[in-house]
Amino acid sequence: MSSIMVDKMKKHNFFAGPAILPAPVLEQAAQAVVDFEGMGLSILEISHRSAQFTAVMEEAMASTKELLNINDDYAVLFLTGGASSQFYMTAMNILNEDETACYVNTGTWSTKAIKEAKFFGNIEEIASSADTNFNYIPKEFAIPENTKYLHITSNNTIFGTQYHQMPTTNVPLVADMSSDIFCRPIDVSRYSVIYAGAQKNLGPAGTTMVIVRKDVLGKVNRAIPTMLDYNTHIKKDSSFNTPPVYPIYVCMLTMRWLKQMGGVAAMEQHNKEKAAILYNEIDSNPLFKGVAAKEDRSLMNATFVLNNDDLNEAFLNACTDAGCMGVKGHRSVGGFRASIYNAMPIESVQTLVDVMKEFGRTHG
Ligand SMILES: *Cc1c(COP(=O)(O)O)cnc(C)c1O
Repeated sequence: MSSIMVDKMKKHNFFAGPAILPAPVLEQAAQAVVDFEGMGLSILEISHRSAQFTAVMEEAMASTKELLNINDDYAVLFLTGGASSQFYMTAMNILNEDETACYVNTGTWSTKAIKEAKFFGNIEEIASSADTNFNYIPKEFAIPENTKYLHITSNNTIFGTQYHQMPTTNVPLVADMSSDIFCRPIDVSRYSVIYAGAQKNLGPAGTTMVIVRKDVLGKVNRAIPTMLDYNTHIKKDSSFNTPPVYPIYVCMLTMRWLKQMGGVAAMEQHNKEKAAILYNEIDSNPLFKGVAAKEDRSLMNATFVLNNDDLNEAFLNACTDAGCMGVKGHRSVGGFRASIYNAMPIESVQTLVDVMKEFGRTHG
């Protein structure tokens, strides 16, 4: 079989999700589709109960714990249904009908999380940046007494904002980290639940990582359908039913790569460098303007606009000509969004910045 040369054919991938994966991960993942670890079988055609896949699941769980320094009070799960299913599963599993949970609304995904949690308890939206189309992270808010948990969206994929300091509170946190999991170190001990759809910063679409503190479970009065109960999956090491074998395998490979790169602290440095190069160009090029408040700018998704909207199409064409794909902004923000996740090499960011500079010269 000819080897797969991902690097040589790759464009610069700025898509928000599903999104860029490390080139060595794609190569190994492609190989495993044909022949998984010399078994003479594809990873797509073996039992999820085989020793070979059980080892993959174990490594994926152990690597998550190692990378984020997670102790045994927590379980790691790889579920299906997307981050969107966690909007309700979190509340269903830990919030009683008569209890209160607080939510900070920082965008589209927070709004959806709030809507779904309302099926299961008293949900208070204690702060929101909806007044300015979510271009900042609210920092001043009072959390009522007896709040069961505070839910945040750590990185707002669409609007390009990110918490750089987690809220200071003793109330346990629940966080949607879909678009910034593993982008930096976090203190997991402050969270009851962390969830992340894999397809932004971790792997392909099809699995959602859930990190859950075991002692917060089993305390609600309601009956929970078997598949929606975290404890079902914890008891069966995330293999109660057929897990999404291939997405989990690719996540595991990404975590191997993360460890080789020096772990999440090294990744944070790398991400800060990349973000600085891009935001510096956005700020210094008179044609462009950043969307998010400077202190809340995301390391993962940079949102920006052209001061002259008439040039939008020409700029996108210039990006495409240079092989920079996926730079078009989300419809609810307009302009442009460059997603620069963990796997994005600094050279790709530099290529986009070069396009912006050249665009400034020819259209300024
Ligand atoms: C993409 C995204 C989601 C939705 O994920 P699905 O897996 O499509 O349900 C939720 N939250 C955030 C922050 C996201 O970026």
